[in-house]
Amino acid sequence: MPFPALYYAGAAVPALLLIAAAFLVLRKVPAAEFSAPGVPEYDPGEADRAAEALAEAIRCRTVSYPDVTRRDFSQWVALRRVLRERYPLSHERMIPEHTAGLSTLYKWESPEPAGEPILLCAHLDVVPAGGVWNVPPFDGHIGDGFVWGRGALDCKNVVVCLFSALESLFEGGFVPGRDIYLALGHDEELGGPEGAKQFARYFAQHGIHFSLVLDEGGFITDGAFPAGKPVADICAAEKGVMDVRLTVTAPGGHSSHPPERTAAGLLCEAVCRVGFKLRPARILPLVYDHFNTIAPLLDGTLRRYAATPRFYRKKLLARLCADERTAALVRTTVAPTLLTGGVAPNVLPPSAEANLNIRLLPGDDAEGLVSWINALTRDLGVKAEIVLNEEPSGVSDYKGAAFSALAGAVSDVFPGIPAVPGLCCGASDARHYEPFSSAVLRFSPFIVTLNELAAVHAENERVAVASLGAAVRFYRRVIERFCSPGGEQGNPGVKETGGNGI
Ligand SMILES: [Zn+2]
Repeated sequence: MPFPALYYAGAAVPALLLIAAAFLVLRKVPAAEFSAPGVPEYDPGEADRAAEALAEAIRCRTVSYPDVTRRDFSQWVALRRVLRERYPLSHERMIPEHTAGLSTLYKWESPEPAGEPILLCAHLDVVPAGGVWNVPPFDGHIGDGFVWGRGALDCKNVVVCLFSALESLFEGGFVPGRDIYLALGHDEELGGPEGAKQFARYFAQHGIHFSLVLDEGGFITDGAFPAGKPVADICAAEKGVMDVRLTVTAPGGHSSHPPERTAAGLLCEAVCRVGFKLRPARILPLVYDHFNTIAPLLDGTLRRYAATPRFYRKKLLARLCADERTAALVRTTVAPTLLTGGVAPNVLPPSAEANLNIRLLPGDDAEGLVSWINALTRDLGVKAEIVLNEEPSGVSDYKGAAFSALAGAVSDVFPGIPAVPGLCCGASDARHYEPFSSAVLRFSPFIVTLNELAAVHAENERVAVASLGAAVRFYRRVIERFCSPGGEQGNPGVKETGGNGI
């Protein structure tokens, strides 16, 4: 073929122009900016009452220890008494439709249900409180504008704010246009085997399907990376949880004559091999949409990558992987959490064990993970067994009416704060309710700083009294939007509502 270079050059001119034009269009950041966040309005009296109820709830030590003999079930009974006394109308008018152990499923029946019910969820148990606290973790101390103690953010705050909203609606004579269920689990921190899993069986047996399942989940975090500004993170999916036990055996004996390969040494090598070898990263469509929605809040190149994530997929992925705060959104993570072995400083342990806590990205599976661990550690003689396996959730509809109505409630209470679909890296009871709704959404409507968020499952857990007031308003607006008779927005409450969502 003569003059191939010219031929190609001729074709290349319009092609280059097209590529350049496409590049300019693609790199353009969305023009629509979010309005500046306003201050949420709330009733200070309502916030104070919620704070007092929360403080009292924290004093009930509903600690979920894996060892059942360590659990003091009288504390759950005490907590239920606190709730009954604080919220008498709710307990008088809502039927405890089903109980499972110390978990209760309440129902507020609509006289004329005009659509599928909604399910509101929270859990009554907490994790143990180790470490050094500024105030004792079960004193229920109120001070400096905060309620302090184990469960203040995870999630007795949700329990009291849900009840506060329900109680005020009963007081105001609200009549729901669809049934409202309230599921209070007692063992969420252990995976919900006796609570949420049993409720799920009940829903299956009775063919109950919900227009919305709302559980704890993403917060409104002020200063979170990478947005830097508050964003309402409404999670449409959650990662799976696995515990894998690694066991190594080797001859024990006197530590003065150690063999080349000891059980403890082999275990350490296995943990390092697995821990330092990262799983492949990928961006789920949900995570694409999360960053695309918050793009106007980002700075610099990240803003450009997030605005056109499909065009800058690799660059966006590299940026997300480079920071541990976002890396968990794009890959399955492995964290060694328990290491056990020796009994004395001068004794070689005959066996050593480690627990790997693994958070699976939706799409990854347990069998694949164990094969990968086996392949990495086979030559060390390590045995890997699955101790716990909770699969990742599916991804709920975050472009439909339910998400939009929730985003509308965010806009009502938290003006200027965008509602953004997200992925939960932690687990919740909500995953057990997946088969019963296309909208299983996880959102905790509390404004928190990064420091406050870091106190969940750690020392000095606390929640701002003001944020309790706003959360009560939020839950009330959710119920009004979904359950007003005839539908506040038409078609019982779940139509297009606007707000700062996508
Ligand atoms: Zn929780």
